[in-house]
Amino acid sequence: MMKADVIVVGGGISGLSTAYWLLVKGVKRVIVLEKSYLGSGSTFRCATGIRASFTSEEHIIAMRESIKLWKDLSEQLDFPYMRGGYVWLFTQEDQMKIYEEYSRLHNSLGVPTRIVDSREVQRLVPVIDIRNILGGLYDPLAGKANPFKVMYAFNETIRKLGGEILTGVNVTKILTKGERIVGVQTTKGTIESDNVVVAAGYGSRKLLEQLGVSMPLKNIPHHAVITEPFKPAFNPLVVDVSTGAYIVQTFDGGFIMGAEIEDIEDGPLIPRIEFMKTVAKIWLKFFPWLKSINFLRYWVGYYVVSPDHHPIIGPINRYKGLYVAAGFSGHGFMIGPITGKILAEWILEDGPKIPQLRRLSYQRIEEGRLIEEKAIIG
Ligand SMILES: Cc1cc2nc3c(=O)[nH]c(=O)nc-3n(C[C@H](O)[C@H](O)[C@H](O)COP(=O)(O)OP(=O)(O)OC[C@H]3O[C@@H](n4cnc5c(N)ncnc54)[C@H](O)[C@@H]3O)c2cc1C
Repeated sequence: MMKADVIVVGGGISGLSTAYWLLVKGVKRVIVLEKSYLGSGSTFRCATGIRASFTSEEHIIAMRESIKLWKDLSEQLDFPYMRGGYVWLFTQEDQMKIYEEYSRLHNSLGVPTRIVDSREVQRLVPVIDIRNILGGLYDPLAGKANPFKVMYAFNETIRKLGGEILTGVNVTKILTKGERIVGVQTTKGTIESDNVVVAAGYGSRKLLEQLGVSMPLKNIPHHAVITEPFKPAFNPLVVDVSTGAYIVQTFDGGFIMGAEIEDIEDGPLIPRIEFMKTVAKIWLKFFPWLKSINFLRYWVGYYVVSPDHHPIIGPINRYKGLYVAAGFSGHGFMIGPITGKILAEWILEDGPKIPQLRRLSYQRIEEGRLIEEKAIIG
């Protein structure tokens, strides 16, 4: 029978980051189990954005720390990462006042965002039509990374550090003895371990419910398109504050665009024509020249949404050895580097030292201490 010190269920960025940090901190036998291929959940469907311009202390601090790790990891693991910033566009008078307040909070927590006028928006995004723009919030620490290359680099490094990654292995049950974890049952047999991390994205709720652990997570389809490649036009990810839509140019030149359209919980991941119309209408207003560029691909993936849009990262105290990292909403890629570090600290060192990171654990859900976040997009 196979044995592990820690089993990680899910081969998205949360699972691979967890395996990486456990190995770096000296754990010997780490096994990642992925039911399909690595990245096949939400990670390969993300829009590449990384930012710290949120409105809760927990999010701002977690992302600030994650951004530090993005830089270090991009150098150590060797993948492309750029601090091109985020520009939040204001088209209505009241937005400026609201974001001024957010910016003060960011600055007080060490995130140097600032309010900019429309001329500065034009300087940051030279190809934008500023006629309808009153100004914006600029987050210079923000940036982007290519999820495919990030996952490839994590995969290579984990294997070099002695970790095992098994794909095509579906975890069907987490095994317990009384109130402690003893392993998992999979489609390829049983694996023993005293510690199991559930980082299974949209599959997390179902796995934990079998243990009687209620996970208030909703899997909501979100849509994105990418255009054919274009010469480098602008570096920041741009958000239209009025609609929550976003646009970003990838390292390969394509523009990824997302916008909100209504969708239903656990809905099918299939393209809808009205999404293309919605997203094109929003962005043609700011970039009229986009009309001559074709959409190349369209995909849909789940945002796994918690009741307060903050992730649930940490132990589930009801069972010794049970941990979770899920409910990232649209922010699981950017927080990925620190997600694994937080979990490794819970497993090996009694949790992270930073109080805001400790507050992300499942305990807040059990105790009904939800955290508010107002800057949600896409
Ligand atoms: C359109 C879109 C745009 C987004 N844009 C951004 C963005 O710009 N920035 C950002 O930070 N985030 C973004 N996100 C969110 C981000 O993609 C996710 O939050 C993040 O990828 C979650 O990573 P994860 O590892 O937790 O989950 P996943 O990547 O979903 O990985 C979970 C894995 O677990 C596997 N699994 C499930 N059940 C089982 C089981 N029983 N046994 C074994 N394996 C199992 C799945 O196959 C999957 O591969 C976006 C999401 C979408 C859909």
